[in-house]
Amino acid sequence: MRHAVISDVHSNLEALKAVLSDIDRRGIKDILFLGDAVGYGPDPDECAKILFDRCTSLVIGNHDMAACGMMDAFMFNPRARFAIDWTASVLSDESRSALAALPLSVESDEAPGILMVHSNPAEPDKWLYLCIPLDGLSYISSMTRPVCLLGHSHVPFALEMTAGGEALEHTGPNMLIMEGSRYIINAGSVGQPRDRDPRACYVVLDDGLVEFVRVEYPIAETQQKMLKADLPRFLIERLAHGV
Ligand code: ZN
Repeated sequence: MRHAVISDVHSNLEALKAVLSDIDRRGIKDILFLGDAVGYGPDPDECAKILFDRCTSLVIGNHDMAACGMMDAFMFNPRARFAIDWTASVLSDESRSALAALPLSVESDEAPGILMVHSNPAEPDKWLYLCIPLDGLSYISSMTRPVCLLGHSHVPFALEMTAGGEALEHTGPNMLIMEGSRYIINAGSVGQPRDRDPRACYVVLDDGLVEFVRVEYPIAETQQKMLKADLPRFLIERLAHGV
């Protein structure tokens, strides 16, 4: 079965729409969402509604929790906190309660062998970042499922641990899932990539093939809306640079 894996949309409606039309163009029906629907961007409510409508499995992210008042925003830097307060002020009650009800991790029947979390497989409520493949080394051997999908750091990568205990890093656009290996796959970010490529990022799982996909979207449109909403300058500018 084919799955599209999307993460860290962060209220970026233009990026989300571009990714969804790429997913539709490929005829993929099953969409897995790894958290952070909201925070940073200008369209939290619209993005949350679309994600609940289109995704078959969803987990909660730290920005979702903070925007729903389930987590103290002191853990965030001042700009992120500003965006969280703004998000909380515009989020509908319906979206807030739907986000607040999401689990920290999912082992979906639709995707057997896959664990979905936002931050890391062992302690999804601690929000530790996996930014490079090596960050996953301390988690990968104790995973209960062969594949863990996550986001949070906004940097796409994959770590493989072979049956023989060899650790392999994958940063290319394509990778094959090998029998007996374990994987941590970071799906990157739809709405705020931080690997110096400003295009929206998501992952396609097609049986044993993993593809990291990049999609162009009208960044200036999102930036205009953020300017109008008076969101922090840095958050507006970083979208154009993918940082
Ligand atoms: Zn995020």
